[in-house]
Amino acid sequence: MFVLENVVRKNILALKSYSSARDEFSGNDGIFLDANENPFGTLNRYPDPYQKELKKKLSELKSIPSENIFIGNGSDEVIDLAFRIFCDPAKDKALTFSPTYGMYDVSAEINEVELIKIPLDESFQIDLNCLEKYLNDEKLKLIFICSPNNPTGNNLNNIEWILQRFKGIVLVDEAYIDFSNADSFVKKIDKYPNLIVSQTFSKAWGLAAARVGIAYSNEKNISLFSKVKAPYNVSELNQKAALDSLENYSEFEERKAAIMEQKELLEKELMKISIVKKVFHSDANFILIETIDANKIYNELVMQKVITRNRNSIMKNCIRITVGTADENKKLLIALNNL
Ligand SMILES: *Cc1c(COP(=O)(O)O)cnc(C)c1O
Repeated sequence: MFVLENVVRKNILALKSYSSARDEFSGNDGIFLDANENPFGTLNRYPDPYQKELKKKLSELKSIPSENIFIGNGSDEVIDLAFRIFCDPAKDKALTFSPTYGMYDVSAEINEVELIKIPLDESFQIDLNCLEKYLNDEKLKLIFICSPNNPTGNNLNNIEWILQRFKGIVLVDEAYIDFSNADSFVKKIDKYPNLIVSQTFSKAWGLAAARVGIAYSNEKNISLFSKVKAPYNVSELNQKAALDSLENYSEFEERKAAIMEQKELLEKELMKISIVKKVFHSDANFILIETIDANKIYNELVMQKVITRNRNSIMKNCIRITVGTADENKKLLIALNNL
């Protein structure tokens, strides 16, 4: 059985969070002489530390109470906070799969947590037999599952199998879920007390510059994130940008449809190119290809001012290509055909 108190670091359980001036009085009306702000200007006031308006809007969109939502400075903040809440440095462990998103590694290093990495199988799926051996390790507190997975692009199966067996936290990173046909795990946060789902405004919502990420989980888990975050972790400008994008849902849908259409086209065209040995199936807004020589092809594309992501260091001869506009994709194809 999952017992939250066994998984949270003792110092975090005991922590009394910083109470900001905006915590103690949160109305809009009044003369504000409480936070040592400058009385002049337009960005002179601290933002809402709990992003209430943004959470309300997300809560309506996802049919989930605001208490189940945490907003972070990008979902990279969610990853970092998960380490800080659940893993004692130089003692506890976390686990993920390989290849996957590189920030789990970096964040583990920063937090001095050992990260176990289990290779995905040849269809880029989780090897459950191998994983099972680790699930009862008392020191293992956190499992990261990126689905759709970056850089392979595919949805991962058997996530519920893991949620049912693991006594620690499972963080499902759904940065690309809006591009996928798979159901989001957000709907399962009431069923699994050990489930945290992260999403982001950086990809399908088109707001990478704004740095707004989200964690969905039960109220207890979310309150831990709220407790450890910096008081004003999401700026007023960024909260506003995210709110504006939510209020413009039709644009979100239109742009997503355009990206999906381009992805299909790009997949077809990439398959015709002789230096492309394989085009992997993608449930996201990028395509992983295997080429005859990734380093050489990557560099030659750079010379033609087309920048892709060379993944050769983690997947031999593989390059990850983000789906761009029709014009950008055409230029990529011309550049590839020029090689
Ligand atoms: C891009 C990406 C993120 C980044 O999220 P931010 O909200 O921009 O910090 C998180 N996870 C994965 C798997 C990504 O590919």
